[in-house]
Amino acid sequence: MKFKKKYPQKYESLFLFTNKVVMIRFRIICRKNITIMACIFCKIASGEIPAKKLFEDDKLVAFYDIQPQSPVHFLIIPKHHFASLNDLSADHVHLAGHILVTASNLARETGIDQSGYRVVFNTREDGGQSVDHLHAHILGKRKFLWPPG
Ligand code: AMP
Repeated sequence: MKFKKKYPQKYESLFLFTNKVVMIRFRIICRKNITIMACIFCKIASGEIPAKKLFEDDKLVAFYDIQPQSPVHFLIIPKHHFASLNDLSADHVHLAGHILVTASNLARETGIDQSGYRVVFNTREDGGQSVDHLHAHILGKRKFLWPPG
């Protein structure tokens, strides 16, 4: 083989190992990009599909839920794709705070701040998450039960 002639034997296994690591990383990046390309909330964030938006800045978008569960029901999503709350770390403290302050501001703007509202981050299967892009539900203008169903 050409490779064996060009390089001493001892480099062969190192070359094969490096090659394998590069291929595994490439596959992980491809899988992540396919997930993001198919994500409906990423498409709303980029403007590729329409939504009834209440607020947008460089980090977040807020828009009304397409199947409202209360008279006021909107979602706040980060523009960056996080599959769920599980993907947040200490690096994202500012973003997490920004989501909550935006929820508070929009609750005031939509007139639910005084009567009250609920903020929900459904997370993974048991949490009832159906869209795998981190989002906060803000629901108001009706009474909610506790404990939740
Ligand atoms: P969850 O079940 O917590 O993941 O919430 C996902 C929410 O996204 C549901 O309440 C859906 O009604 C809502 N939803 C899904 N697609 C859209 C869309 N295109 N525009 C607005 N809301 C959506």
